[in-house]
Amino acid sequence: QETTEEERGSEDMTRDEERIHLLRELSRQEYLKKRERRKLRELEAELRDEIELFGEEELTEKEKKDLELKKQLYEIASKRVKEMDEEESHYKMPDPYVDEMEQKGDMQKKLEVLTQRFKEAPKKELKTDQEEWEEHQISLALSARNASEKGDSLSGKTAYELLLDDSIDFISEDILSGQGTVEMKSSLSKDIIQKNERESLPIFPFREELLQAIAAYKVLVVVGETGSGKTTQLPQYLHEAGYTKRGKIGCTQPRRVAAMSVADRVSKEMKVKLGSEVGYSIRFEDCTCEKTVIKYMTDGMLLREFLNEPDLASYSVIIIDEAHERSLHTDILMALVKDLAREREDIKVIVSSATLNAEKFSVYFDDAPVFNIPGRRFPVDLYYTKAPEADYVDAACITVLQIHATQPAGDILVFLTGQDEIEAAVEILNERTRGLGSRLGELIICPIYSTLPSEQQAKIFDPTPPGARKVVLATNIAETSVTIDGVVYVIDPGFCKQKRYDPRAGIESLLVVPISRASAIQRAGRAGRTQPGKCFRLYTKWSYYNEMSDETSPEILRTNLSQVVLSLKSLGIDDLIHFDFLDKPPTDALIRSLEQLYALGALNDRGELTKLGRRMAELPLDPPMSKCLIASEKYGCSEEIMTICAMLSVNNSIFYRPKDKAVMADSAKAAFHRVFGGVGDHLGLLACYCQWMDSGYSTQWCYENFVQVRSMKKARDIRDQLDAMLERVEVVKCSSNDHQQIRKALVAGFFYHVACLQKNGSYRTIKNPISVHIHPSSSLFKSEKLPRWILYHELVFTSDYFVRQVTEIDSSWLLQVAPHYYREKE
Ligand code: ADP
Ligand code: MG
Repeated sequence: QETTEEERGSEDMTRDEERIHLLRELSRQEYLKKRERRKLRELEAELRDEIELFGEEELTEKEKKDLELKKQLYEIASKRVKEMDEEESHYKMPDPYVDEMEQKGDMQKKLEVLTQRFKEAPKKELKTDQEEWEEHQISLALSARNASEKGDSLSGKTAYELLLDDSIDFISEDILSGQGTVEMKSSLSKDIIQKNERESLPIFPFREELLQAIAAYKVLVVVGETGSGKTTQLPQYLHEAGYTKRGKIGCTQPRRVAAMSVADRVSKEMKVKLGSEVGYSIRFEDCTCEKTVIKYMTDGMLLREFLNEPDLASYSVIIIDEAHERSLHTDILMALVKDLAREREDIKVIVSSATLNAEKFSVYFDDAPVFNIPGRRFPVDLYYTKAPEADYVDAACITVLQIHATQPAGDILVFLTGQDEIEAAVEILNERTRGLGSRLGELIICPIYSTLPSEQQAKIFDPTPPGARKVVLATNIAETSVTIDGVVYVIDPGFCKQKRYDPRAGIESLLVVPISRASAIQRAGRAGRTQPGKCFRLYTKWSYYNEMSDETSPEILRTNLSQVVLSLKSLGIDDLIHFDFLDKPPTDALIRSLEQLYALGALNDRGELTKLGRRMAELPLDPPMSKCLIASEKYGCSEEIMTICAMLSVNNSIFYRPKDKAVMADSAKAAFHRVFGGVGDHLGLLACYCQWMDSGYSTQWCYENFVQVRSMKKARDIRDQLDAMLERVEVVKCSSNDHQQIRKALVAGFFYHVACLQKNGSYRTIKNPISVHIHPSSSLFKSEKLPRWILYHELVFTSDYFVRQVTEIDSSWLLQVAPHYYREKE
């Protein structure tokens, strides 16, 4: 059998591709494993402390029992820790002598000892792990001594690095070239910029031209590098030019955080109070008033306004911002706005985008002109890792410390995929910088993600004090939606969280996936805003070219469309197959959402909106939740369902669990769970809210019960709004303490979020089933007897499929509540 050179080549290629996938998968698992290990150690320590607390005194019967249990748990935990240590010791042998030195903090001595021992060591053919490790440390040490003060590359090691567990080798490969004319700013011009910040933005020289173009055309596509001033300046220019005399300027954002932070910024630039002339509107939070003329809002909110005001008569300009993100609602808005522009003579539409494939938008809007704002970006050096990284969160932290120890001043921006990773990174960095003492400048750690309180979000924009270095740990939001000045170094692990939808199974999940090359370029670009920068990619060049796709696929192609379909139906758009989408969603997904809406009773068998459907469309919620709220009246528990929906809407951030009081926190949570007989998380949330209410919404109560005050206040806010909305759709308020009735109402909305217990202890979802597990954060996770049927609020994928917010149900309810979805089988 002969194979040609080429064939063999491509075989190698696919094999390598598989290997890369495998390595990446392993790396993710390694990360999760490490986290578990850390937790296990904490658990062991906690238990030990608690056992000690019992002391020598006489114990009551109950205390004795308690102590006995704790001792048993401790034994299990410490046995597992021992096993774990043994596993780990394969990788790194402890060295008592060096460790002792290290404890004394005598670095210089340590170097000498190591060097000495290396010299004395006889040459051997085979090296042990220990020797290899020593050699590595020595070479680091020697190069640290020789290292000049240049510090212009990460390989210029310093003695500090010996304090780091590890270091990462990067290879410098490419340069992301600068754009447009760039002048180096002297310190003098910096002062001027501070005085005239608005006028120094790249968009400013084009102010008049832009206004002329907007005056001349109904639809204009504006393209410009992130940070050029599109979001903050365009609305102000239009306001100054008098457009707000005829109506509001609406500017949509795909992200809530962006809408809030940009509105805040613009209100400051205009020297008005946020919520007066400049305001924002996001779901469950309307920060505007009658005076508001510049309104930043999420794209979803504008979509809702279409329902109440189909011609958007109160607006003179609509800016669809961040169009390149192609969020689901932005895509739908573009279709609606396109239609609107044909109807309304006096409206202006601006589609604003960061990337250069604006051609597509232009074509879509009947060849609308494209206005390019020439970019201004300094060159960025690109570095790749030599091999895939085993744990990208850890690798990112190491890189932060490497930069901090070896690179000249400049802030660092790290892209992570979500709150959990960001919190883990904050912890790692805090831990490691403690060890560095005061010899290095201060490292100011600023996390930013959507559920972070807004005061803390604002912190990322504070200028870095001299001598310190800021490290911003951000989700994708920092890619194009917000610009943080002063960033010189970008660390890009190459992942993001993405929604995926399997229309056949009707399953929506959040996955951590590799980013696209377009995203990678955007991320790198963040380093070159104010001076030449560096971007450290925690992946190989091979991955970049072979594993990443060109562009991120639009959300509409990979999401559940039920809510959007319901909105479109209630706007009178019946023919969805021929609707003018920028990218057509998969027919499968459309059909599936029509089916779901039919099953929920929102559509009749001819696909027309029912009365129920019309009421559901009034609520800014996912159809299952809307259905459950409206149905709750029938089960006599609308008050309770409102509370549960409000609590579910605050994003898993109700309970907190400080490390040093984890057991107390868990028992507080378990107490809520018990109130309704331990049937599940939904009722635990209800109990928690009710007790808080009984305490007079007390903050003290929150502290005592390990509940986040801020989240509770948010839930109360949302609940108030749901209350008003239910009034509007005429749901009768009623209350019941019967948890069966409450759960039946939940089933009425979430009947296809149901799973059944399998013999192996996992659960199987219904209809095109997959195997899922109860998430460890659920109160049912540890139950002795797992319920046979569960209803879940969401399904996520991390190391496996997990369902979060879980409640036990009775399968007979499914037949009662959703007979056209479930048929008798068993
Ligand atoms: P674009 O929309 O073109 O990406 P923006 O209008 O968002 O640009 O940003 C313009 C400038 O305004 C950025 O350089 C950034 O420094 C500044 N900026 C934006 N938002 C804030 C904020 N919340 N706080 C401080 N500065 C901000
Ligand atoms: Mg912007």
